Amino acid sequence: MLNDLNREVTLGDMLDARENRVKMQREIIERYKGTLISFMLNIPGNLKIFPLCIKAHNEAVKLITNSLRRYGIPIIYQTENKVKTGYESFFVVKEQPIIIKRLMTDIENSCELGRIFDIDVLGDEGNKISRSDLNIAERSCLICNDIGHACSRSRKHPIEDLQKKAKEIMENYFFNQFADNCAACAGRALLYEVCITPKPGLVDRNNNGSHKDMDIYTFIDSTSELIPYFRDIVLSGIKFYSEKPKEVFERIRYLGMLAEDCMFAATNNINTHKGLIFSLGIICASSGYLYKNEEAVNTYNILKISREMTSGINDDFNGITEKSAKTFGEKLYAAYGIAGIRGEAASGFASVKNYGLPVLKILIKKGYSLNQAGALTLLNLIANVKDTNIIARSSIETLKEVQFQINNLINKKGIENISIAEIMDLDNQFIEKNLSPGGCADLLAVTLMLYFLEN
Ligand SMILES: [Zn+2]
Repeated sequence: MLNDLNREVTLGDMLDARENRVKMQREIIERYKGTLISFMLNIPGNLKIFPLCIKAHNEAVKLITNSLRRYGIPIIYQTENKVKTGYESFFVVKEQPIIIKRLMTDIENSCELGRIFDIDVLGDEGNKISRSDLNIAERSCLICNDIGHACSRSRKHPIEDLQKKAKEIMENYFFNQFADNCAACAGRALLYEVCITPKPGLVDRNNNGSHKDMDIYTFIDSTSELIPYFRDIVLSGIKFYSEKPKEVFERIRYLGMLAEDCMFAATNNINTHKGLIFSLGIICASSGYLYKNEEAVNTYNILKISREMTSGINDDFNGITEKSAKTFGEKLYAAYGIAGIRGEAASGFASVKNYGLPVLKILIKKGYSLNQAGALTLLNLIANVKDTNIIARSSIETLKEVQFQINNLINKKGIENISIAEIMDLDNQFIEKNLSPGGCADLLAVTLMLYFLEN
């Protein structure tokens, strides 16, 4: 009930609610003659209904339902009572109450959010099963290690501390859940990128492309190590939500360097994912930042924050001439205005937005597998993006030739009609010329990451 949102309740309200609840429990048991699970959150203080706790309540209902389903216990009746003293959920099952109580204490004890769950289990006589019936320890206090009941009876902790702790438990649970999901998307994007086959000149499931020092397992080793870092970077975006995106970028730099160390250790000093630690790191931080700021975590917003985070990142290139350029990146920028992955990030991954995502989405909608759609999306990226890795292994002229050739193929046949055999043919040509479009491979992974986050 919207009217109950953020409204304080009195002790009288609480006593009335308890009385009503007991009555309702009795009626449900009489009617459905089974074991009753009666659930509500244990939120300290006078404020019982606010968005975060509604979310936590729904999560609890999901956890209870999943637990019953896992053990093949059907729910024969389920209802919810949305009262201002805190939402209540009831489930009736045909199973011994002692077994149900054990399942429910598992949730309360093992899930971090479960610390604020209050799950009562009543037998078909209305008898409440206690933890001591199962020889399970009493619940401990949210703040100290004493028994919870004892602390609340003696009012050991100020109510504000308890409220703060309950809020923290809920927030952290959802932050961690969000960060885990994003990190899983990042890991999945990295693995899909390397597994998509065939890919011209790149490591895939058929061959190692133009590479002599790495294979598909090098990428698997590296990816496995990087997933926890992506998670930490999402959490940094959450933690520093009140700062400007550019400041958040400075915050995640160090985590990025740690991730690089870890990658090099896992791959025997082979650079598998340096560019992607940078790109996916920015996307992870942007996602966390948006989540905590309660803005939609969609591609548009992610790319907007990514752009703000990295604005000015190309300033290092300012004033560099072909004479003064030292690094390969500086030389490329001075000669052709190509800014590589940094330029991509600063543009809000314009190539992904223009040449990656639209093609991937159309092909998937047409029923192509992720492998097929990914392989063709890569071709479209190679045709349109000045890949610095190709230039590094050859010349700008060779890049132009390759792009001309692939563009011709796309224009002649239409991207969706290019066959696997034709891509394998390109693969052979790239290997022969020792070319590897590593920059576009990175953009394919960014495309996949955004696609996974959206879905
Ligand atoms: Zn305590």
